[in-house]
Amino acid sequence: STVPEVTLNNGIRMPQLGFGVYQVPEDETQRVVASALEAGYRSIDTAALYRNEAGTGRALAESGIPRDELFVTTKLWNTDQGHDAALRAFEESLAKLGLDHVDLYLVHWPLPARDLYVETWRALEKVYAEGRARAIGVSNFHPAHLRRLTEETDVVPAVNQIELHPRLQQQELRAFDAGLGIATEAWSPLGRGNGVLEDPAVTAIAEKHGRTPAQVVLRWHLQLGNIVIPKSATESRIRENLDVFGFELDEEDMAAVEPLETGARVGPDPDTFN
Ligand code: NAD
Repeated sequence: STVPEVTLNNGIRMPQLGFGVYQVPEDETQRVVASALEAGYRSIDTAALYRNEAGTGRALAESGIPRDELFVTTKLWNTDQGHDAALRAFEESLAKLGLDHVDLYLVHWPLPARDLYVETWRALEKVYAEGRARAIGVSNFHPAHLRRLTEETDVVPAVNQIELHPRLQQQELRAFDAGLGIATEAWSPLGRGNGVLEDPAVTAIAEKHGRTPAQVVLRWHLQLGNIVIPKSATESRIRENLDVFGFELDEEDMAAVEPLETGARVGPDPDTFN
């Protein structure tokens, strides 16, 4: 299956569907990422927080896949915010991954109460200028945080990676991102066990198309234009989540997902998470 690519605001192309490795234990990561690459994923989403950058890097190296066919994202953890700390954390992530550049480097959370994200962003601008990150972006940023960044710094984030699934559809934030030319990437795209995959509206659409609920939810994202990074440590699901390019939801299906919105998060609220 060929995964479509999204062109980011600096011209870099990013696969619209990738593989997330949050909560994959370090000793399983190499195997799990290897099976994702074997299945055909080329974009991998890790983070310093996940403590599995080294295993991710080993799988990338041993795959033999040319570096320019891979898209590697990692993220700066909260305790490393601040200009110099961010530069040091970036070096560490590169070393663990065994790479000389990443494709996308993200500020993991804005932490507005600490008020360090503008200064942190200047460090990301530096690694971007040096070509050690082909694109830089943010995660969990709300409009107020994005507005400040764009007012006080030079590089507009390429991506905003946010919690987004049928229970939290993020219509306003998606529109705000789009208005600034920022691509929206959905984390916990399947709702991480919050009942979305068992919802009768979703299972009905799945039955209609002879597909699984996870495939329906991923199609919903793709058709909205979201970048998605589903996670699974199970071989069959890793393949299932990539096999979403042979069918389409119709307007009626898309409309049937809309009422699933409850606003309930599976993760923290970016305005108060500290
Ligand atoms: P997800 O929505 O991808 O759900 C993953 C879980 O869903 C799996 O653990 C499994 O239990 C289940 N699942 C996966 N495929 C399935 C299938 N085909 N059928 C049935 N069940 C299936 O949630 P996630 O792991 O939280 O999010 C995905 C990725 O997003 C993470 O791995 C990470 O890379 C990223 N993420 C980023 C942030 C952030 O703050 N930036 C936060 C959380 C996650």
